[in-house]
Amino acid sequence: MTDTKHTFSKPASYFKNRGNMASITLKAGREKSVVRRHPWIFSGAIERVDGNPQTGETVEICSNRKVLLGRGAYSPASQIRVRAWTFDPDTRIEKPFFRNRLQKAVELRASYIKGSNPRKLACRLVHSESDGLPGVIIDRYGDFLVCQFLTAGAEYFKQIILEQVVKLAPFAGVYERSDVDERRREGLPEAKGVLWGSEPPELVEIQEVPYHFLVDCRNGQKTGFFLDQRENRALVSKYAKEAEVLNCFSYTGGFGVCALGGGATSVVNVDSSASALELAARNFKLNKFDMDKVRNIEGDAFKVLREFRDSNRFFDLIILDPPKFADSRNSLDGACRGYKDINLQAFKILKPGGALFTFSCSGILPGELFQKIVADAALDAGCDARIIRWLHQGTDHPTMLSFPEANYLKGLVCRV
Ligand code: SAH
Repeated sequence: MTDTKHTFSKPASYFKNRGNMASITLKAGREKSVVRRHPWIFSGAIERVDGNPQTGETVEICSNRKVLLGRGAYSPASQIRVRAWTFDPDTRIEKPFFRNRLQKAVELRASYIKGSNPRKLACRLVHSESDGLPGVIIDRYGDFLVCQFLTAGAEYFKQIILEQVVKLAPFAGVYERSDVDERRREGLPEAKGVLWGSEPPELVEIQEVPYHFLVDCRNGQKTGFFLDQRENRALVSKYAKEAEVLNCFSYTGGFGVCALGGGATSVVNVDSSASALELAARNFKLNKFDMDKVRNIEGDAFKVLREFRDSNRFFDLIILDPPKFADSRNSLDGACRGYKDINLQAFKILKPGGALFTFSCSGILPGELFQKIVADAALDAGCDARIIRWLHQGTDHPTMLSFPEANYLKGLVCRV
């Protein structure tokens, strides 16, 4: 049951006792990306489906010349018709497969796990395709796991994945947050609730050393916290000494807490979500900061930035961490305008010598294009800005080299 070999392709006829597993046959020439281990097979690449596979069931992936290339999950409702679980024809998609993949994923996070207080440890344990488990997201918040099963295949094997994951450490409960749009594209209903063990409390306390945060796993955004920004939050502390800080799209105050911890004189958090800002206030108190230094503004960051510009309010450090502006090619133009606008406004209210941390989590927007947008914004604002760092998602959100789409978060630190 190994899954680590480097030579894979065997003729389908090689397997005498393959049972009646359904299969897909690719159009001639369309096996190239599969051979390069890209896990997505679009409907247009498939010539034939044999064996009437049901939603989420495993199918064999065969080239047009009948070479067995791997096995994947069938998703009839999705344009991504099959997501490969394995490129090794000898690997069966059964319990040991999931156990091995989950164990490997946890081993990859050893540096996060070692030395942390397990009751406050927060990190992503499974990052979908990049951990060889397309559609499976598992985040750890102390004693609790919070999961998303985003694809037909992930949903199909949910119970087995659950059974295996709870064996990895002594957890108190597993909570599902599959209440997301992606499920609709797979023909799956939204799902939310306890999957195993006890329900997480209203707020779970986690630690990103040295700071503490309260996380609402059940109703917060994503699985409750933006774990992908952990390293970047830590970096903000280093730039915050004696700075007046503007934290736009603050959510529950993550960057703001790190800025005050790093010696900022004040932090203004801006977010459109009142509940996120309420929790932000609690997070500042939890870290025992002087609340006179903190201001929370509930509003549209696009407008608030303009109000600061009109009232000549300037900042030493500005963070822009907006939500995903583009999730398809159709929305890319509008997204670019959005990024340009907020970056332009931010440059206008950055003090000389100040720093801008600017991010995009739109996977579809290439990093070079994002950089061009920020460059245009600086030009229009009349700023000579230079990039002093390129930032990415944290190391617990890896990118499989054969799947560059996983590299979604990009950021720049610019100094003027
Ligand atoms: N930086 C945060 C994560 C930000 S997520 C952290 O490290 O935890 C994006 C945030 O933008 C969400 O909290 C969302 O409520 C907020 N948001 C979305 N649209 C907005 C808008 N137009 N103006 C202000 N906030 C907005």
